[in-house]
Amino acid sequence: MTPRRDLAGAAILAAVALVPDLDLLLPVHRGPTHGVGAVAIAGAVAWMVSRRPGWGAAVALAWGSHILLDWLSNDTRPPLGVMALWPFTHDYYKASIEIFPPVSRRYWESRFWIYNLRAVVVELLILLPLTALIVSRYRSRARSSGPGDPPPPSGGAGDTDGISDRRARHGAR
Ligand SMILES: [Zn+2]
Repeated sequence: MTPRRDLAGAAILAAVALVPDLDLLLPVHRGPTHGVGAVAIAGAVAWMVSRRPGWGAAVALAWGSHILLDWLSNDTRPPLGVMALWPFTHDYYKASIEIFPPVSRRYWESRFWIYNLRAVVVELLILLPLTALIVSRYRSRARSSGPGDPPPPSGGAGDTDGISDRRARHGAR
């Protein structure tokens, strides 16, 4: 069973996608929490706690999306990139293309706001249309087949209102 298609589920997964950056509280940033091992652990824990493989997969994808976006972002503080293949290697990896601009954590500098405002604007310009597309496709699919509904009849392209050809013919008599 997959997570419920509702706002609470989306909020939980959005929060999960932020968890890897809790390592900002540690001396090592973008380290093991940004590796495939952490993705597997997070997915396994979610699966065990919820007892639903769909939740395990969703949490793993949410966690992994953070690593993917960090890998694609500009990083100005060495070591550059993310420890993407932890625990297999402690090397840092970074995409050769940088889609997302760098962010600044030097709040005492005047360019802090300009830097981070630019980063937020670029991220929204890229991710909002993508999110809107995914949500609209998700909604149209949820509308066409509700939970527990039988699969649509194979009556043909014109049969979209849930009435099978046989029932329609019977009713016409
Ligand atoms: Zn991160």
